[in-house]
Amino acid sequence: MKNYHMSPDEFRKQGKQMIDWIADYYENLEKYPVLSQVKPGEIKNQLPVTAPANSESIEQIMADVNSIIMPGITHWQSPNFFAYFPSNSSGPSVLGDLLSSGLGVQGMLWATSPSCTELETRVLDWLAEMLQLPERFKSSSAGGAVIQDTASSAALSAVLAAREKKTNYQTNDTGNLGNLVAYVSSQTHSSLEKAVKIAGIGKNNLRLIEVDENLAMRADLLEAAIQKDLQAGLIPFFVCATVGSTSTNAMDPLTEIGRICQTHQLWMHIDAAMSGTAAICPEHRHFLNGIELADSFSFNPHKWMFTNFDCNCFFVADRSALIKTLSILPEYLKNQATESGAVCDYRDWHIQLGRRFRSLKLWFVIRHYGVNGLRYHIQEHIRLAQQFAGWILSSNDFALAAPAPLNLVCFAHKNGNDFNRKLLETINNSGKMYFTHTIIDGKYILRMCFGQTNTTEEHVRQAWETIQETAKKLT
Ligand code: PLP
Repeated sequence: MKNYHMSPDEFRKQGKQMIDWIADYYENLEKYPVLSQVKPGEIKNQLPVTAPANSESIEQIMADVNSIIMPGITHWQSPNFFAYFPSNSSGPSVLGDLLSSGLGVQGMLWATSPSCTELETRVLDWLAEMLQLPERFKSSSAGGAVIQDTASSAALSAVLAAREKKTNYQTNDTGNLGNLVAYVSSQTHSSLEKAVKIAGIGKNNLRLIEVDENLAMRADLLEAAIQKDLQAGLIPFFVCATVGSTSTNAMDPLTEIGRICQTHQLWMHIDAAMSGTAAICPEHRHFLNGIELADSFSFNPHKWMFTNFDCNCFFVADRSALIKTLSILPEYLKNQATESGAVCDYRDWHIQLGRRFRSLKLWFVIRHYGVNGLRYHIQEHIRLAQQFAGWILSSNDFALAAPAPLNLVCFAHKNGNDFNRKLLETINNSGKMYFTHTIIDGKYILRMCFGQTNTTEEHVRQAWETIQETAKKLT
């Protein structure tokens, strides 16, 4: 019978070449312009409008990767990438991910691959230890954790579980009650607004609490907003506190917010997407103080823990609230293991049914680096950021624009918004490095985020030189 499949032998040959290609890429990363320089449509216009009718070789495909796809890549793995937040990766992570693809496991139920579930549970318990999370977030207690695709999905899961808990698990059946209210700060990531919209809470029922001079949520204003809503007959149900806001790395006061949540019986979610990783270092663990009051917590190893996208870790203190919210058991998924109650079926812990074997890459990463190795590199990133912040502080032309508690430095040139915008564009268009901006109090602020796997002091010195020299030329 005719067969178009790739044989194991051909796969072996092509696979080895692909690993070589990726290793060459890593070796040559610094030769590429960090920010892709293509114009909109430039990549699409080089691609055929219709799919090929006949088989093409991997060599032909890779030739197009080199000539068409690569120019449209922004090099997130470049050591000169300082934009947004890191999305860092590493050899062990890519290998773990490749193995996951090779096994092709769909781990929706314990029974569909026990290793997929049990490795995930074990690795997440390791992480709970590494982050010194309270016992209740571990699988041995009432809580536990799951790997989700993103912090956005984790936030949505938290909002849904909070909604159900507040309404005695009725809203899933009856539809939204229309008077639930959620609270975030004006600096909270947009994924929370999205979650509130999707969960049927409604954007009008999302309160954006004002922040203090450090851009952290003001707990007194949170309390006042809750009181106001209660008096109006509304039902407060959910608060998201952030550890390391996207814009400036602001740290919300977890303990104060947690106490308010306890008083009013609100679900407290902590979004620590990037900065949560820092808590594996004992000297930075204090940023999570107050987590003992939280109902859920999420952070992204796919940002700052050398684990390639996607990999979010979502911890809950009471897994039954999450499972009661998201569990549906149609006949065709029924099986003895599930019915015995002795196993965990992670399909009940998130929105989608199917799930990849993501814990493999996390396991590879943690075992390759060891906890000490991970700490070392996180500490090094923070050291580099603090050194950069020191240079800004001693500069006559630039000033810090927000506190820099960890690996993100926000700063601006004294010449004002238009100048800073031009400075950023000029440098990014040069391809030498890539960094991005934010707006604080109407001011255009430059952001340098330090967290790429291979960024060294030399790269940071070079970046600072580029920024200073370009600023001089533009003055
Ligand atoms: N929360 C914070 C604080 C972030 O910085 C980000 C970054 O994009 C997100 C959530 C969203 O992350 P994800 O892409 O995993 O949904």
